[in-house]
Amino acid sequence: MKFFLPKSHIIASNENNCGQMESVVKCIGCNKEHRIVTNAQKYVDWLNGELINNALPELNAEQKELLISGTCNSCWDLMWGEEED
Ligand SMILES: [Zn+2]
Repeated sequence: MKFFLPKSHIIASNENNCGQMESVVKCIGCNKEHRIVTNAQKYVDWLNGELINNALPELNAEQKELLISGTCNSCWDLMWGEEED
């Protein structure tokens, strides 16, 4: 299966023999690398424009955010965290 990497924070995506896509996402905030394993076909669906909640509902919120924007939980909180009154 050929595909491209449209997002610079996704530094690798490799399909394994089990029909899974093993992606490495580098957080744009802290540069930590996160490995995310998904269904390969669903992952391609997402790359092709499917909503992540439809294509990859099994991912947790942090994994979805990493794939979409390249930010991990702690960096997300730093950038967008709710302001305290
Ligand atoms: Zn981070």
